[in-house]
Amino acid sequence: MRFVGRMQKIGATIIPVTPFEQNCSLIWCEETKKAFLIDPGGDVDYIRQAIGQTGVSVDRILLTHGHVDHVGGATELKEALGVPIEGPHEAEEFLLSHVTDMGARFGLGNLRNVAPDRWLNDGDQVRAGNLSFDVVHCPGHSPGSVVYVNRELKLAVVGDVLFAGSIGRSDLPGGDHDTLIRSIKQKLLPLGDDIGFISGHGPTSTFGHEREHNPFLV
Ligand SMILES: [Zn+2]
Ligand SMILES: [Zn+2]
Repeated sequence: MRFVGRMQKIGATIIPVTPFEQNCSLIWCEETKKAFLIDPGGDVDYIRQAIGQTGVSVDRILLTHGHVDHVGGATELKEALGVPIEGPHEAEEFLLSHVTDMGARFGLGNLRNVAPDRWLNDGDQVRAGNLSFDVVHCPGHSPGSVVYVNRELKLAVVGDVLFAGSIGRSDLPGGDHDTLIRSIKQKLLPLGDDIGFISGHGPTSTFGHEREHNPFLV
């Protein structure tokens, strides 16, 4: 057995990508320098540059859901970095198998469809080095959206489920407003007011701040 410190030390950087200014995030374990690359939606060269600047080694790619601005660079980076893609929930297959079509529709060029190496379910865990996240299935913005949360570190990556001052749209295929509100109120907020989160777009916030001030939740 190996001693692991009481507080895992992590590093994180947000890399805004695509015309949608999607927050691709790179989160790593400081002990091993192994990293998760979450939602690499595009601008692959820019992402690789950011990885190079941090000096970490990407261990796996995580996806929160199947929308093109979150997954457009995933297959190219999987091949370039030689790492697996994990997530989202299998209910996103209908989106991930049409990334090329959707990319063309939004003028995002030649994006590749995505076939994850591992689908994720509620309660699963993902791990890079000594850093792990629990998986919470949060449908509503899209049917297979997942959130990654580490309760000790008080950190969550929520994709487009929840934003600072807003919530994800539910008018896209497979979306449902009531389901989204249920996911947020019953599965995310109970995780703790002090959990800070990174959204797919815009600034960071905490569950507690949103529980009190988010107009869609109060
Ligand atoms: Zn989305
Ligand atoms: Zn998005």
